[in-house]
Amino acid sequence: MFDLNGKVAIVTGGNGGIGLGMARGLAQAGARVVVAGRNADKSAQAVVELAAFGGEPIGLQADVTDEASVEQLFAETARRCGRIDILVNNAGTNIRKPAQALSLAEWKTVMDTNLTSAFLCSRAAYPHFKHAGGGKVINIGSMLSIFGASFAPVYGASKGGVVQLTKSLAAAWATDHIQVNAVLPGWIDTELTQQARIDVAGLNERVLARTPAGRWGRADDLAGVAVFLASAASDFVTGVAIPVDGGYSMQV
Ligand code: NDP
Repeated sequence: MFDLNGKVAIVTGGNGGIGLGMARGLAQAGARVVVAGRNADKSAQAVVELAAFGGEPIGLQADVTDEASVEQLFAETARRCGRIDILVNNAGTNIRKPAQALSLAEWKTVMDTNLTSAFLCSRAAYPHFKHAGGGKVINIGSMLSIFGASFAPVYGASKGGVVQLTKSLAAAWATDHIQVNAVLPGWIDTELTQQARIDVAGLNERVLARTPAGRWGRADDLAGVAVFLASAASDFVTGVAIPVDGGYSMQV
């Protein structure tokens, strides 16, 4: 039910953090993983790590905010792997400023990286999924898909949009045997949040106090949900947003 042998998975931002945690899960389940990011050195290191699970992983350089680069990523994956079955829209960024201090360029950077990228990659995946007879899209949202935060208006807008995009794609593509779901990570210890702990006073203490599990998440905490949503086990699950947050979002 969870076997991914013979499947090809593109993980955007799969060269580090949550993306690499999910990529490890997919590779362990048998998928051939294509790690897509801008930093070729980081991708090369991730490929070495993933190769330990077998499955001939590949690193491809791509900027998910760039339409031509996205098209190239999917064309190159199809050329080298012969098929595409799974897309994890994980690449993301944050610029932590209240709205009154945020420039339009900063707004566009975060929206393009977090939300427009998911549209571009999902659109590029669609013909490959149709050709394969089905497919899986896993979009990465956030606790800020649910909650607001004074210091992250554009991040929250982009991650709220990710959930709504998930539902629209899920509705449109259900009869094509394509399931589209979102994962909402809680506070996970990665490069992104290591910077947040520096930028936002008291964040570490608030996260620990508010998370019932009493700890920050680890990238590998996301591996299991990735395998579930990428495999036949979730074939009748579509359009949902699953928190993976140590209980953060289930209480006031
Ligand atoms: P990291 O900063 O560790 O990873 C972000 C990844 O995105 C990097 O691998 C980076 O690769 C890639 N990336 C960024 N911009 C682009 C781009 N334009 N084109 C291609 N790849 C890009 O962050 P996390 O692992 O923490 O975050 C991963 C996802 O999880 C994000 O969507 C984030 O919003 C989300 N998330 C994280 C949480 C956390 O607590 N850490 C909580 C909730 C959600 P490269 O630099 O090579 O381009």
